[in-house]
Amino acid sequence: MDEFSFINSIKPSTYRQSSLIKGIGDDAAVIRQTAEDIVTAVDVFVENVHFSRETMDPFHVGYRALAANLSDMAAMGATPTYFLVGAVVPKNWSSDELHEIFKGMRHLADKYAVDLIGGDTVSGSELTLSVTVFGKVRKDKARYRSAARPGDIVFVTGTLGDSQAGFHILTNNQQSESNSYFIKKHRMPTPQIDFANALSGINRLSSNDISDGLANEAREIAEASKVTINLLDEAIPTSSNFNQFSLSLQHQWKYFGGEDFELMGTVAEGEWARVEETAEKTNTLITKVGNVTLNEHDKHGEVYLFQGVKKQVLKKEGYTHLK
Ligand code: ADP
Ligand code: MG
Repeated sequence: MDEFSFINSIKPSTYRQSSLIKGIGDDAAVIRQTAEDIVTAVDVFVENVHFSRETMDPFHVGYRALAANLSDMAAMGATPTYFLVGAVVPKNWSSDELHEIFKGMRHLADKYAVDLIGGDTVSGSELTLSVTVFGKVRKDKARYRSAARPGDIVFVTGTLGDSQAGFHILTNNQQSESNSYFIKKHRMPTPQIDFANALSGINRLSSNDISDGLANEAREIAEASKVTINLLDEAIPTSSNFNQFSLSLQHQWKYFGGEDFELMGTVAEGEWARVEETAEKTNTLITKVGNVTLNEHDKHGEVYLFQGVKKQVLKKEGYTHLK
């Protein structure tokens, strides 16, 4: 299939966002400026680095690429509006598979009324997707990592470690009916857009999406806010069948697994009841997992893990590229 008919086939028949002036079909897209702040982020996915065809169908590759980006919007408290896709496509990917990738993205885009407004399609040696997302947030209301304060409650949404459990199941050939939950969490994670947006009435909140593991995300907030974050091991929420795995795997996946695309955040104790109410309204599981204290010894911010009487520094052993 030639590039022209491919672009035609992925071009949305209608756009949902009212600030769009020009979508796919010209040299660039045009968005009319609104009173809101515009939030934007990009994520790049490379075959055999970020995903493999052994554990993901093309549909999941597309779904997950957009999910990761929408999750960044959730972390910023923004409502996603538009996305653009740069695709490097090797010869061994068929046009059907390429369509499946875009179908996976469309599945999520439809759910959140996010419009595909452009991109670029080229050939190359490794399947690579570069997804750029735009979102909007009320003026000065973006959620920053630097907003945590001593006295805050630390919370997470959902259950942690499921995505890595799913990956483990897929790569160790342990697929079964009862394990399909974990596989789905790995292939089709839900970005916490609805919950994050419903929190817009909360005055101050810091948040981060869990893409690299709770340990890493908590540290990013601790460092940006120059505070100490204390996490209580027994409070970390996990799903009901998670205890089928060894304790060391559970520990590894809860803190360093990542890719659950849940949210972690901190909020003043006085706002906690409202956060709980919001979670209930949006059908979101939230759990209090720790607190924020003054940063006494180390001005860069520290994360401690409390396990019974044991207190240890939680290092960021999450997956970090370039190291
Ligand atoms: P140009 O040559 O001017 O850069 P292209 O021929 O690359 O334009 O693209 C034509 C139109 O199709 C543009 O609107 C572009 O944004 C869109 N487009 C190309 N590839 C993609 C893609 N992978 N996803 C979404 N839109 C795309
Ligand atoms: Mg052009």
